[in-house]
Amino acid sequence: MNNLTPNTPTSDITIIGSGMTGMAAALFAVNRGISTTLIGRHSAMNFASGLMDLMGIHPAGREWDDPWKAINRIRKDLPDHPLAKVDNRDIETAIEELLAFLKDQALPYHRAARKNVNVVTSVGTVKKTYTVPETMWNGVAALEKKSPALIVDLDGMKLFSARQIASSLKQRWPGLRARTIVFPGTETLEELHPEHVARALDLSANRVKLADRIKPFIKDAACIGFPALLGMYRSLEAVKELEQLLERPVFEIPTPPVSVPGIRLQETFVSGLGKNPLFRTLSTMVTHVETNSGFAITAGKSNAPATIRSKAVLLATGRFLGKGLTASRQGIRESLMDLPVEQPETREEWHRDDLFSPQGHPVNKAGIKTDESFRPLGRPSDKPVKNLYVAGSILAGSDWMRMKCGSGVAIATAFAAVKAIEKANK
Ligand SMILES: Cc1cc2nc3c(=O)[nH]c(=O)nc-3n(C[C@H](O)[C@H](O)[C@H](O)COP(=O)(O)OP(=O)(O)OC[C@H]3O[C@@H](n4cnc5c(N)ncnc54)[C@H](O)[C@@H]3O)c2cc1C
Repeated sequence: MNNLTPNTPTSDITIIGSGMTGMAAALFAVNRGISTTLIGRHSAMNFASGLMDLMGIHPAGREWDDPWKAINRIRKDLPDHPLAKVDNRDIETAIEELLAFLKDQALPYHRAARKNVNVVTSVGTVKKTYTVPETMWNGVAALEKKSPALIVDLDGMKLFSARQIASSLKQRWPGLRARTIVFPGTETLEELHPEHVARALDLSANRVKLADRIKPFIKDAACIGFPALLGMYRSLEAVKELEQLLERPVFEIPTPPVSVPGIRLQETFVSGLGKNPLFRTLSTMVTHVETNSGFAITAGKSNAPATIRSKAVLLATGRFLGKGLTASRQGIRESLMDLPVEQPETREEWHRDDLFSPQGHPVNKAGIKTDESFRPLGRPSDKPVKNLYVAGSILAGSDWMRMKCGSGVAIATAFAAVKAIEKANK
């Protein structure tokens, strides 16, 4: 199946999947002097809002201002939740290490001291999260103070309506006004793509033109909110220049996919990690993993596969969207290595009758069950596989979307798994 030769590249760890979990794990590994190969198509992060949740909701309907207290409660109530297996100090270290890296790469994030903050969403709801891109922070402060604000959207941009945001938040933030602006140079376009606007706003001349179109509508607004597309590679600079031109604080509001802050995160990880000589990445899919005194990992197209040897493997292939899990009439399978998946006994039990049940649906907790070190638990007949670890949203026990713990699970379990791999291979 593989084409191993004496020249086959070798890594200490191969991480399969390049979403938040895979990227974070690669960072933690190279920071500890571990040679790392990351294999995956850089796609999943494009969908994510760019916010990093830690723990927001548990049990159903109970929102937490203090995510650390929420995690302590999870430890008591849901010992199989992935965050329950990671020490709070390790979670904190992991988040700090990741945020320090992003800051060094000119993508700073901001958070309140150990507290969740409230962020306005693209549909005008308010969501709790733990850490937000610096470019969104003025919006957190403005919502808290309820300062009079202008929300701008762009003609032709789908799924982001300033008017809907202002109207949905009328009670909570009465001083909000909305205005649609035609982005300079797009007068004849019917549809506007956020990535194109973001790249255009990397240029100062386009910021000046945009500000000129907004100025007549500012009136009493103490700050101005935009969809999150203020620059692709120079977002901080774009926000700062718009603040000077408009003479008040500016902030970004997360958008639905495709999300510019998600693309910024992904590209920042790839370029920042790429500077480390211990890091190597293959932008392709793994098709086969052979376990025999270490691992031989086959990736790429069948007519030109690449093979990598590795001492350890960290599976971070995500759930159904990223195809880490596959659903069929027979049940849910782990797609690459056929690891056992913890899941409801029958398909009828996947979903509750009430689609909007605050308790969520059992299928969202299905996934790979592991021990405390994030090694997958095999079937009774399986031989244990040495040095195989699993992290991130593919793990059983966390309904991350409902509990608002997506990035928290990704970052914390990536850290814990890398720590366990380091310990096991000393
Ligand atoms: C629309 C959306 C909005 C989100 N918003 C938030 C938010 O506001 N706050 C928050 O904290 N989190 C949010 N998240 C969650 C977050 O971005 C991550 O999904 C989550 O942290 C889990 O990441 P993951 O890396 O475990 O899985 P994924 O992000 O799914 O990444 C898994 C990767 O593995 C790859 N893969 C699968 N099989 C293979 C294979 N055989 N070979 C190579 N690669 C493979 C997939 O292609 C994918 O790129 C959001 C996610 C989505 C989709």
